[in-house]
Amino acid sequence: MKLKKIAIANRGEVAVRIIKACEELGLQTVLLHSDADRGSRAFRMSDFQICIGPAPTSESYLNIEANIQGALAAGADAVHPGFGFLSENADFALACEKAGLKFIGPSSEAIRKLGNKISFKRLAQSAGLPLIPGYEGDDQSIPKLLTEVEKIGLPVIVKAAAGGGGRGMKLIREMTEAKDQIESAQREAKSAFGSEKVFLEKYLDRAKHIEFQIFGDSTGKIHHLFDRECSVQRRHQKIIEEATSPSLTDDLRRQMGEVAVTIATVANYKSAGTVEFLLQDNKFYLLEVNTRLQVEHPVTEEVLGVDLVKMQILTADNSFVFDAKDIRIPKGHSIECRVYAENPYMNGMPSTGKLGTVHWPEGPRRRFEFGFDSGDVITSHYDPMIAKVIVWDETRPRAIEKMIRVLKDSTIFGVHTNIPYLIAILSHDEFIKGTMTTRFIEHYFADGLKSNHDEINRKKLSQEIYKNLVQKFVPQQTEAQSPWLTFWRGV
Ligand code: ADP
Repeated sequence: MKLKKIAIANRGEVAVRIIKACEELGLQTVLLHSDADRGSRAFRMSDFQICIGPAPTSESYLNIEANIQGALAAGADAVHPGFGFLSENADFALACEKAGLKFIGPSSEAIRKLGNKISFKRLAQSAGLPLIPGYEGDDQSIPKLLTEVEKIGLPVIVKAAAGGGGRGMKLIREMTEAKDQIESAQREAKSAFGSEKVFLEKYLDRAKHIEFQIFGDSTGKIHHLFDRECSVQRRHQKIIEEATSPSLTDDLRRQMGEVAVTIATVANYKSAGTVEFLLQDNKFYLLEVNTRLQVEHPVTEEVLGVDLVKMQILTADNSFVFDAKDIRIPKGHSIECRVYAENPYMNGMPSTGKLGTVHWPEGPRRRFEFGFDSGDVITSHYDPMIAKVIVWDETRPRAIEKMIRVLKDSTIFGVHTNIPYLIAILSHDEFIKGTMTTRFIEHYFADGLKSNHDEINRKKLSQEIYKNLVQKFVPQQTEAQSPWLTFWRGV
């Protein structure tokens, strides 16, 4: 290992995740943190800490120069950007390269090609890969955009070219609202992302979100590490993710995996990335590529038994090369829930404050990724995600049941959390059957939860549904001999 000291240009649970991987690899860590995160869990766990600016992200976590200067001052030889913030910023990757710091991720060039939604579409088009029908031309005049909306056919979604995180999208369902929706998307794009450029896509209204983990090793060899399903989304943001998708046939999985590897190959991709698709009526369309570690990476790690963060670090060190043993078949099922500090009974209103007792119920194949401990303060400066709970089990129904039990046994005092909301979703018939689309939340949980009574009723219902499912899941002959099953059924 040539690398010795890794700077972490991030905060919260992902900073902790990176610190743990570094510890296992015998590397020192430097946390580049804002003033507001002095004393945070990642601050306490890292070997060195450098304050790079005040709480507002534009002055700290999004400030390229401050991060570079911090990493250099600490004598780091590489930078891990985590996810969010500067992780998909080609200029940041380039600034690291220029400053002699290894950027733990793809090259700035690959980020430019794939991370930008429009250049990604052009690249995919030239490689003959399946895209959602749309328009991403340079003529951004209203008459041109209106003509294109008509050509594509309603419904159409307008997206900010520089957008991300599920923000800056507007839906056009009627031609009469098209002009207003386009103008409003342009205004929002300008204020949120600094560019008013938009593009249009046919809106697929019963689609599933399926994505493939890709990875390019130090030599440029690219494999996919199978799929995740992230159809449970609120306002286009994922809440519950799982691996592998319950919706793919072997044939679809093979075809989509090939497309994912092809797009990564044409961009000379190295390190971890995610190729996102929408799947509707058994047809799949490329959505975008995220040129970084994904929030939901743990579910892939759980079904494959790999450590993607270590693989990223080793790739940056030029010492990770895929060999036959790295090509694995997924085993069992894994689910991740994003725990937010918000009030599910007040339509997800953010909840801030000092954390009292925090207890995560440890147990086999349960994983808790969190950036806060008892006594820490949840502020309004940053994303309200406070933790991720991940479980693995032999089958999907058992993983669902395990997740519900683990969430029920988790204690977080001091702020409201979306745990009751997560339990209600996990207990919903459509989720259990695996038939949910990206509009699942909009259909069934648009206003959050109504009252505690709802929650109690849902819990009862979930137990009944689960009992039925277990009965339907009569083990096949070979499974019947498995000590796993015999043991589990006795519980
Ligand atoms: P972002 O980069 O902001 O996350 P994406 O393009 O990845 O935006 O889309 C996020 C989510 O928005 C998707 O997972 C899907 O639920 C929804 N979405 C995006 N484009 C479409 C589309 N053309 N049709 C239907 N849903 C879409």
